[in-house]
Amino acid sequence: MAGSVERERSKPIIALAAAGRTYRLGKVRTEALQPTTLDIARGEYIAVTGRSGSGKSTFLNLISGIDRPTTGSVIVDGHDLGGLNESRLSRMRGRTIGIVFQFFELIPTLTAVENVILAMDLVGALPVRQRRDRAMALLEQVGIGAHARKRPSRLSGGEQQRVAIARALANDPPIIVADEPSGNLDSRNSDMVAAIFADCVKAGRTVI
Ligand code: ADP
Ligand code: MG
Repeated sequence: MAGSVERERSKPIIALAAAGRTYRLGKVRTEALQPTTLDIARGEYIAVTGRSGSGKSTFLNLISGIDRPTTGSVIVDGHDLGGLNESRLSRMRGRTIGIVFQFFELIPTLTAVENVILAMDLVGALPVRQRRDRAMALLEQVGIGAHARKRPSRLSGGEQQRVAIARALANDPPIIVADEPSGNLDSRNSDMVAAIFADCVKAGRTVI
């Protein structure tokens, strides 16, 4: 038994097997991601680098199930994403992956704390009564508890990205996927985002 638990733990949390993505626009074919084979272990902190257009977002979108590979397979936390239908995929994504975007993508009509609660409402993992307290605790954790009742338009870029990170952590996912999360921030706020992600890794999450 202990051996099988150990094997479970040492299994890669993300495994790409010759996973590639080709776009076709009319007769034009773009190989956005060449077939890629890669294992990512639980608790790894990985940076993906490359020039603009080299396929970084394509790669991240395959991992987060926003997009599907045209060849090969992507396995995340034991789920072969190619084999999941839309609703199973979105359920898996909601519980397993927290996504952080370059332009935050907060809901403008909701306050900071409501943005975080919404992510919990969509997944339904936590009893309704506990959601607001957890959202507040997450906002405290990323240093913006005092701004919980503000709408995104009243927050700076760095503050909005902290809300987005709190939202990404809402359902306690083992994986965080962030695509240029500091691409729209100054260097001080970029350092802050990197520090929060380093804390996530210390807490056992996988951050890409
Ligand atoms: P990066 O994030 O590294 O800048 P991308 O993954 O966004 O790169 O893009 C990789 C390649 O795929 C680029 O040549 C890009 O033009 C192309 N591409 C990305 N998305 C699409 C799409 N929806 N339709 C057609 N081509 C695309
Ligand atoms: Mg990109």
